[in-house]
Amino acid sequence: MKPIGIFGGTFDPVHQGHLRSALEMHEALGFERIHFVPCAQPAHRAAPRVSGEQRLVLLELAVAGQPAFVCDDRELRRASGPSYMYDTLLSFRGQYRDRPLCLLLGLDAFVGFSRWHRWAEICDLAHLVIARRPGADLPERGDEYALYKTRGAETVSALHQHAAGSVLITTVTQLEISATDIRARLAAGRSIRYLVPDAVADYIETQRFYVPRWAPDLSD
Ligand code: ATP
Repeated sequence: MKPIGIFGGTFDPVHQGHLRSALEMHEALGFERIHFVPCAQPAHRAAPRVSGEQRLVLLELAVAGQPAFVCDDRELRRASGPSYMYDTLLSFRGQYRDRPLCLLLGLDAFVGFSRWHRWAEICDLAHLVIARRPGADLPERGDEYALYKTRGAETVSALHQHAAGSVLITTVTQLEISATDIRARLAAGRSIRYLVPDAVADYIETQRFYVPRWAPDLSD
């Protein structure tokens, strides 16, 4: 059975760094599909600038025409409170039973993984597939280092043979794009064209997301 990929994030907004790395991981690991799961309320960072429903619309525009990419609103539908990946994976495990589940995350996210709610149990619910990211290095000590040392997988087949429990580091094309940078460009009145899919750039522009309220509307 092909594994299911689960790509959680704030997606505030989704950008080509997310999409390209998801596509490359999809090709390298042979997923059945990848669920993109925008969080309602991140547990470890400030509240997103744009509502969950709007971030979901942006994701739907971004993955249109890519049938293996699915927008998944389960965290947005959950009762209020922080969006814990542990709860999300429990929900996926209920749905997919014995199927391999792979939680996809960038190396920058893995570096703080031991601060996640019930992080050790997350590894019993899913494999971790970690994409290298510019500016982030694999920890050389601490819980994340120990986790990689004990659970590190050398091959993709380990992820197909077991439902959960391995950690795989994978190399994807390094795109130095972040949502933080995109929000900063929009706040400064600069273009985000080619950093996000065209449909996403168009929607952000018409909705005037991430633009200070006092900024003049220069669209006409
Ligand atoms: P922000 O700049 O607001 O922190 P972000 O661009 O890092 O946002 P998130 O939605 O927080 O995006 O990230 C979701 C996941 O995508 C994380 O696991 C993160 O490591 C990964 N990710 C984000 N940008 C990239 C990129 N350019 N290449 C590979 N992975 C990425």
